[in-house]
Amino acid sequence: MTNRLLLCTDMDRTIIPNGNHPEHPDARAQFRQLCSLPEITLAYVTGRHLELVVEAIERFNLPEPAYVITDVGTKIYQKTDTNWTELLSWQEQIAKDWQGQTHNQLQQKLRGLPELKIQERCKQNDYKLSYYLPVNSDHTNILKQVDQLLMQLGIATSLIMSIDEPEQVGLLDILPQNATKLHAIEFLQKYLDFGLEETIFCGDSGNDLPVLGSQIPSVLVANADENIKKQAFELAEKNGWPRALYLANQKSFTLGGNYSAGVLQGISFYLPEIIKKVRVS
Ligand SMILES: [Mg+2]
Repeated sequence: MTNRLLLCTDMDRTIIPNGNHPEHPDARAQFRQLCSLPEITLAYVTGRHLELVVEAIERFNLPEPAYVITDVGTKIYQKTDTNWTELLSWQEQIAKDWQGQTHNQLQQKLRGLPELKIQERCKQNDYKLSYYLPVNSDHTNILKQVDQLLMQLGIATSLIMSIDEPEQVGLLDILPQNATKLHAIEFLQKYLDFGLEETIFCGDSGNDLPVLGSQIPSVLVANADENIKKQAFELAEKNGWPRALYLANQKSFTLGGNYSAGVLQGISFYLPEIIKKVRVS
């Protein structure tokens, strides 16, 4: 039995109740209580950039994390007193995949694809090139074209596709191959010396899939889209880790399974002894 936990969680629609589903009124308070336990090292893992993370913590009264993995895995920050310090060793590591090619060079290469609309400047960084695309476009075909064009540059990329359900828009993140949320969590595990059985990840959408389908014990909150639930289970099965994925549900837990209630439910599945320390039934 582990007596410490690296709790890695996505933010939007995983612990932030900004989706179409209701949140139990006690869920976030109990989540805060859990995160205040000395056993827990909390890390947010999000598509947001740092300023938007800080804004969300304040606005939604979320617990303060020890680390944040931002920009879909391309940056990692440590909280030190009142400051955030970027782990530059992570940037050095992911830079290798693009072999000196810049964000601008990649963008130039893709300028002929009419479905891609570049996201705002604050949502870009040296190792994250992000586009909007119509929610109903042929994503498989577009991703194939993007992949073929970028292959001509001789670089290694990960193409991460998500749907922003409330906004009804597709999000495409082009990252160094080894810079997804999964790789960033694995880097943090090594950096802090947390084993697999001492780590849990929680998420809800497309950019969480690499982690949900990995050997890291993961939780899919109940409010996740049906399509994501299907994809996550197929991926976990294909990768050989179906038992490292837990789907939160509405019935087996007093608080239900949406958002942070789903996170608590998943932790009670993997580590019941930790959840007993807070008032959750
Ligand atoms: Mg999310």
